[in-house]
Amino acid sequence: MEKQKPDVDVLIVGAGFSGLYLIHRMRQIGLSCHAFEAAAGLGGTWYWNRYPGARCDVASFEYSFSFDKELEQEWEWSEKYAPQPEILEYAEHVAERFDLKKSISFSTKVTSAIYDEDNKLWSIKTSKNSAHKARFVVFATGCLSVPFTPPIVGLAEFAGSTYTTGRWPHEGVGFTSQKVAVIGTGSSAIQSIPLIAKVAAEVTVFQRTANYSVPARNAITTPEESNRTKASYAALREQAKTTHSGIVTSPSPKSALEVPEEERLATYEKRWTDGGLPFLAAFSDVMIDQKANDTASEFFKNKIRSVVKDDETAEALCPTFPLGGKRMCVDTDFYETFNRDNVSLVNLKKEPIESIEGSTLHTTSRSFEFDSIVLATGFDAMTGALNAVDIRGKEDFPLKQAWSEGPDNYLGLMVNGFPNLFTVTGPGSPSVFTNMLMAIEQHVDWITDCLEHMSVNDLTLIEAQSQAQLDWGKEVQRAASQFLRSNTDSWYTGANIEGKKNVFMPYMGGLPVYRETCDEVARENYRGFTLT
Ligand code: FAD
Ligand code: NAP
Repeated sequence: MEKQKPDVDVLIVGAGFSGLYLIHRMRQIGLSCHAFEAAAGLGGTWYWNRYPGARCDVASFEYSFSFDKELEQEWEWSEKYAPQPEILEYAEHVAERFDLKKSISFSTKVTSAIYDEDNKLWSIKTSKNSAHKARFVVFATGCLSVPFTPPIVGLAEFAGSTYTTGRWPHEGVGFTSQKVAVIGTGSSAIQSIPLIAKVAAEVTVFQRTANYSVPARNAITTPEESNRTKASYAALREQAKTTHSGIVTSPSPKSALEVPEEERLATYEKRWTDGGLPFLAAFSDVMIDQKANDTASEFFKNKIRSVVKDDETAEALCPTFPLGGKRMCVDTDFYETFNRDNVSLVNLKKEPIESIEGSTLHTTSRSFEFDSIVLATGFDAMTGALNAVDIRGKEDFPLKQAWSEGPDNYLGLMVNGFPNLFTVTGPGSPSVFTNMLMAIEQHVDWITDCLEHMSVNDLTLIEAQSQAQLDWGKEVQRAASQFLRSNTDSWYTGANIEGKKNVFMPYMGGLPVYRETCDEVARENYRGFTLT
């Protein structure tokens, strides 16, 4: 039988920052490519998450592409942490500048990707009933792109309006004079609650687990600051490459336990005043030693108690897990908002939600009337978007089954049994522990180099070896075990989704070690991969 021909060399799923950069790089190495995007527009996270207050928590100068020096110089960020509309505008600008849109089909969900062993091609089907054949498929489907809806009895029949932060209406929501429930106190809730509280008549926050949130200290970027940063952009990017998270920080080499209490508190105070995620780098052992972590956690709780006037609310807002166990949040006026007369907190640890009937939400001890409910209840992280597609590899074996005991993979890039299928910033890679733009560029560049190597050497197939995958899985768990967060239930472990296998998913070895490992694997003729 005559062999079938591919429609494209590389089929890309998703048109967030990962998909956009992939299109650009594939074109550069002369491979034909096409992307399918479920949304009606590009930008991924920044297309979907339009809730009030949505903005990045990594400084915009860093949370931006580094691959093109002119792009770096021409784009102006208006604030330290740009708001969602500006980040989306930036994604649009990138697409425009590199003429990427013509390679994307929007409003088209990839529903299945089946490996056709006879033809050594991937067969892809979409929600528009189109079928495609590609030599390679890259899933750039995002780590936080499938919102989680909690199974609250009666939620679907709620008489008012229900909004999900990760699927926010484009036209915006007018909460003026409304009674609003916000369920959840993760980053999305913590960003949106202060703004919703400014317009709504009443806001009731339903909190299951109190979180740590540090002030962002967001500020307008002056032209002088912008010019200064742009003048030193190259050095800034190089510095970011040397840090664990790919974010320019000044991690302290000192232990929190070795310094006198006065110095320790002054250090925390300085980090708190500076604001943002670098708080976590105040001391070298905050993230790895329980006693050191306790000192930072206590500092945090005292801050909460000093801001929130009502003692019971303040205590309920004090977290009970290690700082950094779940992703630390970055806010503007989150704790202060609980001093408003129109804001109250319901501690779901004391009175869980029982059901919703009509416009009434019942906890085990009270009933509340609402006009709107905001679900800030998170995502089926890291594996959600991949498991939502019917992906089948060699011998028709489903990815979901291959991952029934956890998302086994090699370097977070490929899975044994699924040749020529790559994932970008998926499980097994540093991904969500980093400045994601940097992680995306590293992954896409590595994939690009790999495909170029295959073209030059006339190779058609690449597949992760099972032993390499096994070893990498152990390395991911070893790296995680050094950190306190490996013992905390979170979306990193899949604990937020009922029935999901609890395994620590991202790689905690740090971006520099990971980058070097990937480069070394490539240098050693793609050690651990079989190339044919
Ligand atoms: P995404 O942006 O998630 O894009 C994936 C795309 O794939 C989506 O558009 C989706 O519709 C599409 N897709 C999925 N499945 C399919 C399918 N089957 N068929 C077709 N299309 C599909 N990271 C940081 O580093 N710093 C931050 O400050 C930061 N802030 C964040 C704020 C929010 C509210 C959220 C949710 C995440 C944030 N992140 C942040 C993480 C963020 O997801 C990444 O920074 C980055 O935007 C991911 O880009 P991506 O292209 O890999 O994935
Ligand atoms: P999240 O951190 O997972 O928070 C979800 C919240 O919903 C948690 O408080 C959770 O409580 C609660 N929840 C879930 N199910 C519930 C239920 N059945 N009943 C009551 N409460 C329930 O999700 P997120 O806030 O969307 O953030 C996800 C990630 O996206 C972040 O960690 C971050 O990486 C990224 N993000 C970043 C920013 C930013 O600042 N740039 C903003 C938003 C998101 P439990 O903790 O008890 O499960």
